[in-house]
Amino acid sequence: EEGSAGREAGYWRLSKLAVPARDDPGKDLAGVSPPLLQAIAKALKFPVSSMLPEEAFTVIRKSFDARKILKEPQFVYTVDVDVKRLLDLEPRTWDFIARLEPKLGTIEYMRDEKVASDLVSMLNVYKQGSDGELGINDTVNNGSICSPRKKPRVAVVGSGPSGLFASLVLGELGAEVTLIERGQPVEQRGRDIGALVVRRILHSESNFCFGEGGAGTWSDGKLVTRIGRNTDGVQAVMKTFVQFGGPPNILVDGKPHLGTDKLVPLLRNFRHHLKELGVNIIFNTRVDDLVVEGGQVKGVVVSDSRLQLGSPNQTLSFDAVVLAVGHSARDTYSMLLRHNVDMHPKSFAVGLRIEHPQELINDIQYSELAAEVHKGRGRIPVADYKIVKSFGEGDAELPEQNRSCYSFCMCPGGQVVLTSTNPSELCINGMSFSRRASKWANSAFVATVSSHDFRPFESHGSLAGVEFQREFERRAATMGGGNFVVPAQCVTDFLSNRLSVTTLPPSSYRLGVRPSKLHELFPSHITEVLQQSIIMIEEEMPGFVSSEALLHGVETRTSSPLQISRNTGTYESTSLQGLYPIGEGAGYAGGILSASVDGMYCGFALAKQLSLFHGDI
Ligand code: FAD
Repeated sequence: EEGSAGREAGYWRLSKLAVPARDDPGKDLAGVSPPLLQAIAKALKFPVSSMLPEEAFTVIRKSFDARKILKEPQFVYTVDVDVKRLLDLEPRTWDFIARLEPKLGTIEYMRDEKVASDLVSMLNVYKQGSDGELGINDTVNNGSICSPRKKPRVAVVGSGPSGLFASLVLGELGAEVTLIERGQPVEQRGRDIGALVVRRILHSESNFCFGEGGAGTWSDGKLVTRIGRNTDGVQAVMKTFVQFGGPPNILVDGKPHLGTDKLVPLLRNFRHHLKELGVNIIFNTRVDDLVVEGGQVKGVVVSDSRLQLGSPNQTLSFDAVVLAVGHSARDTYSMLLRHNVDMHPKSFAVGLRIEHPQELINDIQYSELAAEVHKGRGRIPVADYKIVKSFGEGDAELPEQNRSCYSFCMCPGGQVVLTSTNPSELCINGMSFSRRASKWANSAFVATVSSHDFRPFESHGSLAGVEFQREFERRAATMGGGNFVVPAQCVTDFLSNRLSVTTLPPSSYRLGVRPSKLHELFPSHITEVLQQSIIMIEEEMPGFVSSEALLHGVETRTSSPLQISRNTGTYESTSLQGLYPIGEGAGYAGGILSASVDGMYCGFALAKQLSLFHGDI
C-alpha cells in the first residue's frame, strides 16, 4: 500500500518471525540472535543474514508457540526495523531492500518514529513549569503553571493496582492525595500471610486479598488482559512497572508475568515514589463510612482496622473520594447500599480449582520438548493452557442455560492459596513465584453465572451476587470440616459423582485437603456444565482427566459480583457526587492490568474535574 518498501524510511514492523525452539536462545533472552537474523533476512528476502546489522532491529514481542498443528514448537517474534539505521550502516542492504516488494501480512510500515514513554516521565512533562518543579500551591494547565490555589484533597481508598495508579496520577498532577488502606504494608503483610499458611491464623484485614498492592500481590502476577496489550493505557502501565523495578522482559514477552517475589519489591518502590510525591499513605485504616451532605461526598469515616469493629473512629474531609476497594470488601458494599449508591448485580463465574502435576501438563502440551522442561533448563516456559467451552449459546428464551465454562488465572509452576477474608467462608485462588518452579499446575475452572442464578438471593437487592458467592463459600468451609481445610475430589470421581475413597493425589495447598462430594457443592446445572466441559477438554488434551488431577473447592471471586454505576468520561458515581468507584470491586476491571488502567484514567478524569490540568494527555 505504501509502495516499494525501500522508499519508505522510518520504522517497519516485522511480525510472525518464527525461530524453531531448538535454535532459539530461550524464553528470557529477547535479543537479536543469529537464528532470528535469519528469520528477518527471510522476511526481507535478503540473501545473507549475517550482513544485516543487528543494531537496526528491536524485538517488540516474543511468544512461545507449541500448538499441535505446527511441525515443531517455535518462538514467534515481532521486530521493529529502524530503516534509517539500516541505511546508514549498510548501503548495499538499502539498495537491495529498495527493490523489495512488501510481503503482505508480515511487514507493516510505520512512517514516524514512535516515542516510547512511561507514565511517570510523561507526567513529569506536565509537572514542569517555566522554572521546572511545581510549587506547593501551583496547578498545571497544559504544561504551564496556573494561578496559585489551594490543592484539592482527594482520598483514594484501597492500595490495589487501581488505587495505586489513581494515586500516582493525582499525586503527580498536584492533588493532595491520602491513600487509605485497611491492610498492612507488604513487609508485615508477608509475615501475616506466613502465619496463615504455617499456623492457620487468618488476619481478617491482612491476607491474600487485603493489604498493600491489593489482591494481586501474592499472585502469579500474570500481566495479560483482554483490553488490548498494545493500547496506550496498558503500555503506560507496563512501562511504569518496569520503572519501579519490574523486569524489562515483561514489555516483550508474549505472556508476561511477574510472580510474587518480583511484585513485592516493585510495590515497595511504588510506595517510595508516592511518598516522595507527597502522597500520604495510611495503612491499617479502614473506611467504614462516607460523610455525605446534600448528595455530595464530603469525606470518610475511618477506624483502625487492627481494633475491634465499633472502636473509636475519625472523620476526614476530602473534595473527592476514589473508591478502589476490590471485590472482597463486602462490608464496604453494604455501607454503599445504606447510602443508596446506584449498583446492580453483574455476571461473573464460579467453580473449582483444578491442579495437575506440572510435568503432566508439559507432556500434554509439548510432547517431546517436555523432557527439556522437566530437566529444568529454563529455556522453554513451563506449559500452560487456556480452555473455553460454550453451552446453549444464543437461546434468548433460556438465558439460564447459556453458559460458558473456562479456565481462568492459570498458574503454571504455582500453588493453590486461601483467599478467604473471614474464617466461616472458604475460597481459593492460585499464585506463583517468578520462576514458576513448583511441581504443580493449577487453574480455576469456572462456569458463568448471572442474575438468573442469584434469584434465591433477590431479597439482598444489588448484593444478591455477593450472597450467592457467600453461600458456596460457606458450603465449602463446611465440606472441608473447618480449620481452612479445603474440600477436594479426584477429577475422575467428580465426573462419576462419587466421593474419592482412595488416597487423594498430593496437593500444593498447604492447609490440607479433605475428600468431599464436590459434585454436590453447586446446583446440578452448574455441576453438569463443569463435568461436560472436562469431558470435552479431554478430547483436546488427552491426559487432562487423570487420577492425578485434583479439584479443590471453591473458586467464587473470579470478578466482581456487582457493578457500581458511574458516568462514562468523568468516572463519578451516577448517584453520589464526589464518589469515584474504580477497579475490579466497582465492576470495571478484571485483573492487574485492567484495574491499573482504570485507576490511571480515573486519575486523569478527576484531575481534569479538579482543574489540575486541561486538555488531553
Ligand atoms: P484490589 O487489588 O482487590 O485492591 C483493593 C484494596 O482495597 C485492597 O488492598 C484492600 O485491602 C483495600 N480495601 C478494601 N476495602 C477497604 C476499606 N473499606 N478501607 C480501606 N481499604 C480497603 N490478576 C491478574 O491480572 N493476574 C494474576 O496472575 C492474578 N492472580 C491473582 C491471584 C490471587 C491469589 C488473587 C486473589 C487475585 C489475582 N488476580 C490476578 C486478580 C487481581 O489481583 C485483581 O484483579 C486486582 O488486584 C484488582 O485490583 P483492584 O485495585 O481493583 O482491587
